[in-house]
Amino acid sequence: MRMIDIIEKKRMGEVNTQEEIDFLINGYVNNKIPDYQVSAWLMAVYFQGMTDKEAYHLTKAMLYSGDTIDLDAISGVKVDKHSTGGVGDKTTLVLGPLVASVGAKLAKLSGRGLGHTGGTLDKMESIPGMSFALSEEQFINQVNEINMAVAGQTKKIVPADKLLYALRDVTGTVPSQPLIASSIMSKKLASGADVICLDVKIGDGAFMKTIEEAEELSRIMVSIGSQFGKKVTAFITDMDQPLGLTVGNRLEVKEAIETLSGHGPKDLEELCLRIGSYMIYYAHKADSVEAAYNLAKEQISNGQALAKFYEFIEAQGGHIDDLETFIKAKDVIPYKAKTKGYIKTIKALNIGLASMKLGGGRETKEDDIEPNVGIVLKKKVGDYVEAGDILAELYISKPCGLEITELLDEAYVITPKEIKKSPIIKKIIS
Ligand code: URA
Repeated sequence: MRMIDIIEKKRMGEVNTQEEIDFLINGYVNNKIPDYQVSAWLMAVYFQGMTDKEAYHLTKAMLYSGDTIDLDAISGVKVDKHSTGGVGDKTTLVLGPLVASVGAKLAKLSGRGLGHTGGTLDKMESIPGMSFALSEEQFINQVNEINMAVAGQTKKIVPADKLLYALRDVTGTVPSQPLIASSIMSKKLASGADVICLDVKIGDGAFMKTIEEAEELSRIMVSIGSQFGKKVTAFITDMDQPLGLTVGNRLEVKEAIETLSGHGPKDLEELCLRIGSYMIYYAHKADSVEAAYNLAKEQISNGQALAKFYEFIEAQGGHIDDLETFIKAKDVIPYKAKTKGYIKTIKALNIGLASMKLGGGRETKEDDIEPNVGIVLKKKVGDYVEAGDILAELYISKPCGLEITELLDEAYVITPKEIKKSPIIKKIIS
């Protein structure tokens, strides 16, 4: 088999076989095929696309380029979720304990954040004592005992994705639906869950900008999952503003706890209840999605979901002694509206970047994170404000530079016309 033939086939819009895709992925991972040939093939995929079968074959080749987690030792249905990356996205912190509290098993591998989006691991690590260095045995035992565990992603999972993603990043081939779908699905499938819920964000600060793009990506991911015999549901959700009211590690943990106590922001609560209801239903803990939704609501009002959160963090060494003093920023400064009117947009990308520049995120992989800083939104899209009203509060540990206020100035669009609030979930594809 020759790489040139595989490239030419794809260039002409023909279908690559499983053998050809295996040859390409194995050859690339083992340094037998050079970057320039894989780059040419990626560009051909970008323009010609892939059939669902090809996307499945690519996912399979990537999945078996490294280790996979065997969750067979966990009894019951294993559920997992993935978000394509948002700002203020603390869903896992709420959803995990919520579904674990009714007996669904969540064995989750999470990553760190880079740039404007935060990572679940960074958020959880802002809790004193939390450890994610679990051996496979500890990980499995913990899920069997308390229904939930979170560990860090290892380098051995899907090594092909790391290589391919780095190449896509410098060849203009990241925004290809089948390449994104196989990248995400290979990592999810390597984690071994039976049920996978995908939160596909659209809007500013998200990979997908339009509902059409998000629908196509979701459709491909659901198709890949079903070819592997998994139950996959994609939720297309709004990222035209940050999720909830907080951005920043400890601020987001506190908001997750408030949501589990029934006092969280409505958009975050609704998203967790809706995704949670599918997980609970597919884990056979309720007879219908509607019944599962009601059960999830009940778990919040009866305190079981919150109790599960504390049980989970304690199992991984974490503790929060007093929620009132959990956030220890040096100062809190207001950011005020310059004009009156209705808030049309709060650009999530800008808010994420501003929080990162306050020290709440990483600009490069080597940066340290300051867990106490971040941004609390006091108003959301659709709210009416007068000039001088506080739009947000900045939790800071050092003087706030001009670039941060410039990012915020650009983030808020205020118009005289009334703005309708849009629902958090735009579409569900399964
Ligand atoms: N997230 C991924 O994991 N892979 C992509 O290709 C894009 C987003």
